[in-house]
Amino acid sequence: MRVPIYVVNMRGQPLMPTTQRKGKKLLKEGNAQVVQRCPFTVQLNYATGESRQPIKLGVDIGYTNIGFSAKTETLEVISGTLNLRHDVSKKLEEKRRHRRARRSRLGYRPPRFNNRTRPEGWLAPSIQHKQDSHIRLVDKLETLLPIPFKKIEVANFDEHKMQYPEISGIEYQQGELQGYEVREYLLDKWGRTCAYCGKTNVPLEVEHIVPKSRGGTDRVSNLTLSCRKCNLKKGNKTAEEFGYPHIQQQATQPLKAPACLNTIRWRIVEQLGAEHTYGYITKYQRNKLGLEKSHINDAFVIAGGSNQERCRPYEVMQVRRNNRSIQKNRRGFKPSIRRQRYQLQPHDLVTYNGKRYKVKGVFNYGTWVRLSDSNGKVVNTNIKNVELLKYGKGLIFTFKNN
Ligand SMILES: [Zn+2]
Repeated sequence: MRVPIYVVNMRGQPLMPTTQRKGKKLLKEGNAQVVQRCPFTVQLNYATGESRQPIKLGVDIGYTNIGFSAKTETLEVISGTLNLRHDVSKKLEEKRRHRRARRSRLGYRPPRFNNRTRPEGWLAPSIQHKQDSHIRLVDKLETLLPIPFKKIEVANFDEHKMQYPEISGIEYQQGELQGYEVREYLLDKWGRTCAYCGKTNVPLEVEHIVPKSRGGTDRVSNLTLSCRKCNLKKGNKTAEEFGYPHIQQQATQPLKAPACLNTIRWRIVEQLGAEHTYGYITKYQRNKLGLEKSHINDAFVIAGGSNQERCRPYEVMQVRRNNRSIQKNRRGFKPSIRRQRYQLQPHDLVTYNGKRYKVKGVFNYGTWVRLSDSNGKVVNTNIKNVELLKYGKGLIFTFKNN
């Protein structure tokens, strides 16, 4: 698959990406130098005019993965997924435990009141991390490509429009864009289960509570979701006649407030100055293009992709910058919190005895370092014996199946 080469000008600002062949030529003729190997980026040694094509970036916000894809009129120029971390709350729990143990040894400590307020807009650290990751990723992509347009999916459907769909009179039409939105709304409202038998993970059909043949309308207040089997069994009966009078009642009530992740989506849109779109539109377009469901394909569709030539997707990993909870609570020793950042961090690349190693961690008060080679073999050595090659901080790009 195609792998674009990213180009930055003499001032380090991104230019349009180039092909591998042209990139090689630039390097061979001494007109550029390598600044980064993954994603492969070169810096020009001469001043150029800046012809730019409009690049549009699509971001598919996720709970475990972020999908991203940027494209021009003819080409996809970068794509990939970022794996979000799931250990944030666990790490904080660990930090808290250490702190509690430390404090409990202090003896009497006067109580301090009202010093636990949370600033406005406070988010739980695990959620804040998710928000920050999106911003960080887009910032990184903006160092590789000139991206004037960004688009982000904020929700499955337009909540404001759907606030009281039962009253505002939005109707369902099979196979139409509006139909997709109504369907997404119903999926959220009915919890992705069959309203009658409660089955999940089965194909669900939009079902009329009062059948159309009995004068039922296509309005959202007359719709629910059911599996094929229940739909057939219900036939020409109303939900009440079928033995589910509460369904009829529930259908006229609007959906409750959206989940917390939806609010950070809007914050991300605001912070990045991006356009927004809805999941039902993405789904509709993706089905129309015949693409399979994946974060990268969704991002590609969000960016407005259609027949652009695709490129090889990256997998992006996030690395912890520091281990803040590290401290020793050894019996007979004064507990010591590490207040200094060590000169080496996990994931840094170093040389030792002429070979390349990755740092696993530093121990013995910063004097020893644990290294692992490419086969995963572990060695320990004094920190004086190793030489730093490259910091492993921030976002690490790799190719899938490598
Ligand atoms: Zn059913």
